[in-house]
Amino acid sequence: MADALYDIAEPGESKAKEACAGRAVGIDLGTTNSLVACVRDANPVCLPDGEGRMLLPSAVRYRAGAAPIVGAEALRDAAKFPHDTIVSAKRFMGRGPKDAETTRRFTPYEFATMEGPVVRFKVAGPPPKDGGAEGPVSGSKEVTPIEVSAEILRTLKVRAEQALGGPLDGAVITVPAYFDDAQRQATKDAGRIAGLEVLRLLNEPTAAALAYGLDKKSEGMFAVYDLGGGTFDISILKLTGGVFEVKSTGGDTALGGDDFDRALAELLIGKRGIDEGALDASARRALLDEARALKHELTTKDAAGGVTRAELDEAIAPIIQRTATACKRALKDAGLTPGNGAQLDGVILVGGATRVPAVRAFVEQLFGREPLGDIDPDQVVALGAAVQADLLAGPRDLPREDVLLLDVVSLSLGLELMGGVVEKIIPRNSTIPTGAKQTFTTYAENQTGFDLHVVQGERETVEQCRSLAKFQLKGIPPMAAGMARLEVTFLVDADGILQVMAKELTTGKEASVQVKPSYGLTDEQIEQMLYESYEYAEQDLKARQLAEARVEADRILAALRAALAADGQLLARDDRDEIDRGIGRLEDALRGDDHAMIRRRTEQLDFQTKPFAEKRMNAGIARAIGGHQVGEIEQKVEHAKGTAEHEGQR
Ligand code: ADP
Ligand code: MG
Repeated sequence: MADALYDIAEPGESKAKEACAGRAVGIDLGTTNSLVACVRDANPVCLPDGEGRMLLPSAVRYRAGAAPIVGAEALRDAAKFPHDTIVSAKRFMGRGPKDAETTRRFTPYEFATMEGPVVRFKVAGPPPKDGGAEGPVSGSKEVTPIEVSAEILRTLKVRAEQALGGPLDGAVITVPAYFDDAQRQATKDAGRIAGLEVLRLLNEPTAAALAYGLDKKSEGMFAVYDLGGGTFDISILKLTGGVFEVKSTGGDTALGGDDFDRALAELLIGKRGIDEGALDASARRALLDEARALKHELTTKDAAGGVTRAELDEAIAPIIQRTATACKRALKDAGLTPGNGAQLDGVILVGGATRVPAVRAFVEQLFGREPLGDIDPDQVVALGAAVQADLLAGPRDLPREDVLLLDVVSLSLGLELMGGVVEKIIPRNSTIPTGAKQTFTTYAENQTGFDLHVVQGERETVEQCRSLAKFQLKGIPPMAAGMARLEVTFLVDADGILQVMAKELTTGKEASVQVKPSYGLTDEQIEQMLYESYEYAEQDLKARQLAEARVEADRILAALRAALAADGQLLARDDRDEIDRGIGRLEDALRGDDHAMIRRRTEQLDFQTKPFAEKRMNAGIARAIGGHQVGEIEQKVEHAKGTAEHEGQR
């Protein structure tokens, strides 16, 4: 009974917790910004942080001897800590240092090595154990893009758990449709390191289509035009019988809203007669920041900061124009004729930069139809991922409309043959899940094994393709050349991850690899990262327990104060003093950061005020029944109980 007095939950909060009972979330892990969303009351919504911000800038600043800072706060001090602040980590996911050579020229941070299969950044870390150095040590820690992404995911995970009031059941994470095996595997690994159960990876354009509920139509062709901060992606989706298939993809990995900022900064330099040579790095940064703010203003205003929208439009027109080539090619790859809008059933705008009116106008003209843009283009991918997560994690006993999401293999998958020639087993743009089988034979006399080399790419020779994995099938009895029959099976699962199996048919010998691509991480490396992530886990846990204890204490204090104000006269002087002392002790504890002490004193106060709560109940009942018959009273009490139980169940 006493509990009822204090169990005053925020009405909105408790409702949210119940409505999102599934606790599966969708995450848009973006190059520039990331978001997390869930389905609430049958509608997907993005979850804000404590300050109401939905977008989490994909920036992580590493510090010596402290947990990394993620998001806007990391970005804000990026100029001060250029080496320790990693932005755009997504560009390096599943990439080796050699692949990343062109991208890295534009980055302010440092790379640890040019060797090995995985990019590593040099950031601030704890002092080396043997060196005896003290204080922050820059460059003493190496992190991979996977770990950086894991920090971002972990931040979103904590945000979601706080909003939903408990541990998550799982997450759907989005990836660009063109991500190859290594990049997909790297994203999954990042999720695992962040402690998320990755229910599925979902292509970003497919997520956007789901957010618009296009799966409810029976069929159609859709173009998804995604202009983010530094990347442009175009995808053509085909919907048949409620099932999506990515027909083609294209884009430009060095084109986005950030280019608008640079164009506008140049415009400002010209207008203000600034001497470009005299600008140091921080002045340049400040100018770019100003340009970005002006760009955002010009999305809704005709003029800002001495620049008109027409001037901005002119400055960015050549940049926007560059998206046309990729769009036309993607349409052609999907078997459509560019310029014939009638062949498309919809064009979807994705990415913050598609807010710019000139971009919208361009897209409309290019595709010959008005694009869908009424769902916030920043959020649309996360919202769609939440829809998918809800389907995947939803109650199994309920009938659910399955959206079987079909994606395509973005690059052909093949095997190396004699002479370094590539035999394509699964051609580019095949829908997944998919599989293919092919039989090969021996080249040399008495060959007792095969070397299998799995490659990805469109070119004909091994050197020009990306090496995914190598494995061997050994122990075949010597046979004449051409006698052995090697059957090779390629399977690509719904996440786009490849498994290759080889079987020699005359002997039944088999071997297989799950393509842990050569640019991915080994299990040991993942374990090591998991281990390192525990380094700060304790710290994170403490912060969370403290926050929870504070919320609970505040709630009890507020309820108790209200009760004292209303019915304080029911208490004897001594009892009242005792309660006031209890309140004082809890308030003292709240000024500190010992969560256990806050909890203890909250419980003490709760226990101590039980008699008061009972007095209030009795007084309340007495007030309600003043002067009635006992029989009536019992009925009333029963009735009151019934109502209470009913309330409790909602
Ligand atoms: P990503 O997919 O790369 O993570 P986003 O979809 O978050 O990126 O897009 C970020 C880009 O959108 C930035 O260049 C940002 O300046 C731009 N942007 C965001 N809001 C607006 C706006 N109101 N007007 C113009 N550009 C915007
Ligand atoms: Mg994006």
